[in-house]
Amino acid sequence: MKTNIENAFWNGLPQPQNATRGGTDSGPRDVSRDRENPDLLIPPITDKGTVPNLHFSFSNVHNRLEEGGWTREITARELPVSTTIAGINMRLRPGQLTGVRELHWHKQAEWAYMISGKARITAVDGEGRNFADDVKIGDLWYFPAGIPHSIQAHTEGCEFLLVFDDGMFSENDTFLVSEWLSRTPLDIVAKNFGVSLETLESLPPKEKYFFLAPAPPETLANDEVISPNGRVPQWFSYHLSQQAPIKVAGGQVKIVDSGNFPASKTIAAALVEVQPGGIRELHWHPNTDEWQYYLEGKGRMTVFTASDKARTFDFRAGDVGYVPFAMGHYVENTGDTPLIFLEIFRSDRFVDILLNQWLALTPPELVQAHLNVDESFTNTLSKNKAIIIQPDYKRTEAIERD
Ligand code: MN
Ligand code: MN
Repeated sequence: MKTNIENAFWNGLPQPQNATRGGTDSGPRDVSRDRENPDLLIPPITDKGTVPNLHFSFSNVHNRLEEGGWTREITARELPVSTTIAGINMRLRPGQLTGVRELHWHKQAEWAYMISGKARITAVDGEGRNFADDVKIGDLWYFPAGIPHSIQAHTEGCEFLLVFDDGMFSENDTFLVSEWLSRTPLDIVAKNFGVSLETLESLPPKEKYFFLAPAPPETLANDEVISPNGRVPQWFSYHLSQQAPIKVAGGQVKIVDSGNFPASKTIAAALVEVQPGGIRELHWHPNTDEWQYYLEGKGRMTVFTASDKARTFDFRAGDVGYVPFAMGHYVENTGDTPLIFLEIFRSDRFVDILLNQWLALTPPELVQAHLNVDESFTNTLSKNKAIIIQPDYKRTEAIERD
């Protein structure tokens, strides 16, 4: 049920006011942006104090368009609080000639989530062992820092999210094979490969980065290069699409970290789906910051930063959210469709502490004395909650925009 204020907000011209606070906004203003960010325009009365920006949209960043695809990034330059993680959204074109992200490497580890389509990825490690796999919607890969790799779309094309374990990473700052050779004296290149200068006369004069090339053979086995040193011992892809979710009445979650994806030593993640009206319950992470990517739906999150400060942000598909280390938060589905998002951590393990479970495992008399409640409250607490979404959450007067 939407409140009267919410109905006025969505149906009429939203105004930053209520009966006792604020006032109308006569403009200049961007009403469509105001509608997208109702919790900034009319914050919940519980919001307080100065909190850094914890929200950025891929719609607000420069998109690099090239033959073969496009790429855009949200790094610490766009979202300064995001020191642990940088995110890249990348598209490789479909067709008989498909988009290739050129053979390259970088100083940071790369974790990826396939958003649509299918790609073939390859890599080689320092022992001369190789790797190749096909990744589909909902699947992952992880390339450790310094490991060279490639990504090519199959005929249907693909789009994916790349996550790097350093907020200052830039996708425009990678080591590219074509660029390296264009910056090496040609006689050295010829000597290195033991070929004539004529063989090399068509080397690219600068980076390719993205380009179009014939689609890879549909069957992976037909594209396989056998290494005398074998395959990489820890597989660089993980088929998260095949992992059974933890299901609850209010949604579901898949958790993936170095426990089930051993190669992924610096990135842990949860793929969370919250049904309309549900929340990812009040919790925090005792190990590191959280970087979020919203895949579908609409939601909002309030972050409690201690020092009596909190701020609420609204999110929709294509947005990035951030929660600095240890800060308390929830994520509510405010739309009419499932809210699906990724929680990403620069860590080898996923871990959270749930407010509900913490209180359930504390002497009830002590909890009652803290919160001025009686056993009707403490009896509802859940000791065994291995699940991170509370089902059937109803919006109440307490969280109405006042
Ligand atoms: Mn890369
Ligand atoms: Mn969280």
